[in-house]
Amino acid sequence: MDHFMYRDGALHAEDVPVSEIAASVGAPFYLYSTATLVRHFQLFDQALDGLPHLVCYAMKAASNQAILKTLAAAGAGMDVVSGGEYARAVAAGVPGERIVFSGVGKTHEEIRASLIGGIRQFNVESEPEMAVISEVATSLGLEAPITIRVNPDVDAKTHAKIATGKSENKFGIPISRAREVYAHAADLPGIKVVGIDVHIGSQLTELEPFRLAYLKVAELTEALRADGHEITRLDLGGGLGIPYTRSNEAPPLPTDYGNLIKETVGHLGCEVEIEPGRLIAGNAGILVSRVIYVKQGEDRQFLILDAAMNDLIRPAMYDAHHDIVPVIEPEPGLDQVPYDIVGPVCESGDTFAKGRMMPVLKAGDLVAFRSAGAYGAVMSSEYNTRPLIPEVMVHNDKFAVIRPRPTFDEIINRDTIPEWL
Ligand SMILES: *Cc1c(COP(=O)(O)O)cnc(C)c1O
Repeated sequence: MDHFMYRDGALHAEDVPVSEIAASVGAPFYLYSTATLVRHFQLFDQALDGLPHLVCYAMKAASNQAILKTLAAAGAGMDVVSGGEYARAVAAGVPGERIVFSGVGKTHEEIRASLIGGIRQFNVESEPEMAVISEVATSLGLEAPITIRVNPDVDAKTHAKIATGKSENKFGIPISRAREVYAHAADLPGIKVVGIDVHIGSQLTELEPFRLAYLKVAELTEALRADGHEITRLDLGGGLGIPYTRSNEAPPLPTDYGNLIKETVGHLGCEVEIEPGRLIAGNAGILVSRVIYVKQGEDRQFLILDAAMNDLIRPAMYDAHHDIVPVIEPEPGLDQVPYDIVGPVCESGDTFAKGRMMPVLKAGDLVAFRSAGAYGAVMSSEYNTRPLIPEVMVHNDKFAVIRPRPTFDEIINRDTIPEWL
């Protein structure tokens, strides 16, 4: 459930008509619902009730500080994957002891800055990285808490570009080598091993891959304890999928996922961390766009929108489906016609949907892409010198611009011209 609904014939975000925001901010823009963000966080938090736990929001899904502050106030920690995300989380007021640092390529500088600023744990992805963490921590006279990310060689049964838990993926160390690597970790100065980390992919629509991975983690926990390691924390990653279409059968609920966690690792006495991103932010955001032209092609009609692949790349990158709905509620029983829905960018890949059945639309009409809150704004670019579109947040009957649209001058003036020109 989200808080984007038709009311009196008009799409609302919580208590605010979307058209009112469009009139004030100008299309296109991203729009987030506070109530939906908080509700999704709480679903996870409650699903782990009874276990010591921390839900660390994977902020790469949507990282505006207003979103981070909203979730942190509800009790979330953060999962960061870069020095920039770490700085952003800290700027949003999240204390270091609630930030976990994931990612395969943490640099010396990123490790140093987060050790100085405070960090809950590094999720280590390789032995060379572990050596650098040891070296940096030792030079600072600090001890770095770490988990080691294991690759359980489990098929997440999701899109190949977002599967991370097979042996061919770049992530983690092979679980078959885990005991050896933990033994090595125990010998390194400046490092304190606290647990195990796993993350098998994104947009998982079945629980079975999680079960297989978590059973392997449970088995490894026992083995490592037998080897003399203190394993007190299990970071089980993110990845639970969301419904991108209203018609599709729904993916498992956070409660089912929580029960699975309890079944598979609940008996180990560990503190559990999870890192959901998409499920918290995905259906908490929409992308609002205006029809610029309706163009008659040889054998089809194109809806040319003012949003493009640079604003929302998921359809071009992952062949992703987004439901697209008119902001004015169509009369029930109204005829629908097929449109190819495209943006203005000079790439044929700039296509959001082909042959999508929609009520008849005309230039100037507003549409909303549902489920655009995660991996939307964060993946946008200024390709074609199109300004990054604004982000707006609603809270009950209020709304605020949480990132304004840059002007052309702001974009252009970032270039610097060499002295020989
Ligand atoms: C991307 C990512 C997540 C979040 O995945 P979602 O599918 O958005 O829940 C969690 N942990 C790690 C390490 C990630 O890379």
